[in-house]
Amino acid sequence: MQSDISLRCLQSLDHHNGSGLATHGLRNRALVGLGLSSAIGYLAWRRGSLSESGALGAILTGTFTTSAGSYTHAAMLVGFFAGSTVLPKLVRPHDSDRFDAIAAKGGRRDLWQVLANGGVATVLVIAPKSSAMDLGYLAALAAVNGDTWATEIGKTSQVPPRHVLTGKQLEPGISGGISLRGTLGSIAGGAFVGAIAAAGRSFEPRFTAKPSTLLATGAVAGGLGSLVDSILGATVQERRWCPQCRMYTERLEHTCGTATRIVGGVPGVSNDVVNLGCSLAGAAIGMLIGRYLSDESRLPAVEYWRPFQRYPPPA
Ligand SMILES: [Zn+2]
Repeated sequence: MQSDISLRCLQSLDHHNGSGLATHGLRNRALVGLGLSSAIGYLAWRRGSLSESGALGAILTGTFTTSAGSYTHAAMLVGFFAGSTVLPKLVRPHDSDRFDAIAAKGGRRDLWQVLANGGVATVLVIAPKSSAMDLGYLAALAAVNGDTWATEIGKTSQVPPRHVLTGKQLEPGISGGISLRGTLGSIAGGAFVGAIAAAGRSFEPRFTAKPSTLLATGAVAGGLGSLVDSILGATVQERRWCPQCRMYTERLEHTCGTATRIVGGVPGVSNDVVNLGCSLAGAAIGMLIGRYLSDESRLPAVEYWRPFQRYPPPA
C-alpha cells in the first residue's frame, strides 16, 4: 500500500508525459534509482565516506533524481559522488593532517552536506521539464563538483593560495583562497559533469543541447560556481579559531579537543551554507544559458514558471 502511494507521488512528478509508456518508464527508473542509490549509500557508509544521515540523503536525492529525471541525470549525480569520494584518495596533499584539522567535518559527509551539494539539483529535476531546467541541473552539479575538484586539486599546489578578493597570500586550506591549480580543477570538474550529460545523449533523448554547449555550460558553471564559493568563503562564512593550536579551522570542536571560537564572518554561515550558495549560483548560470538558447526565453515568464503544467500547452 505504501509503495503504491509513493509510486503515485512519483507519477505526479512525471508531469512531462502522462502516457502509459512513460509511467512504465517512471516505475523502472524509480526502482533502478532506489536500488542503485541504496547500494551506493550503503557502500559509502561502510567505507566511512557517508554518515548514517548522509547515506539517507544520498538515497533520497538519488531516487528522486532518477525517477523524476532520467538515467543521464542519475549518471551525473553518480559522477559527482564518485569523483568526490575517489579524488581525495588519489591526490596527495603535501600536508594532509593540516587540511583535516581545518575541514569542518573531516571525510564523513552527513545529510546537510549531501543536501547542500545536491539539494538544488534535486529541486530542479522535480521542476517542470525544460531545457533551461536541465541545464540548471547540469550547472548546479557542475558548480559543486568544480568546487570539490578545486579544493582537492588545489591541495597539491606548491604555491600558497591567495585571498580571492585582496590577493594576499593565505595559509593553505583556509576558505576564500584560490590558486591556479584549484581554478583549473574547478573548470575540469564542471566540464566532467557536462561530459556525462553529453555522453548520455547517445542513450537517451534528454539533454538535447549540443555536446559542446553541455561541456561549456559545465566548465563555466564549475569555474564561476567555485569563484562564488571562494568569495562567500572569504566574506560571510564564519571563521573559527583554535586557541590551543593557534590556527583557523571550520570545526566547532577542534581535532585537539579544544572548543573553537568565532573570530570572523557571519555566525551560522557554515561551509554547508556556502556550498548551497555555490550550487544556487551554478543553477542560475545554467538556467540563464538554457533560456538564452531556447525558445522558452520568448515565452511569458508567468506561463513558463507555472508548476506542473505541460509546456507547450496542447493545441
Ligand atoms: Zn586545536
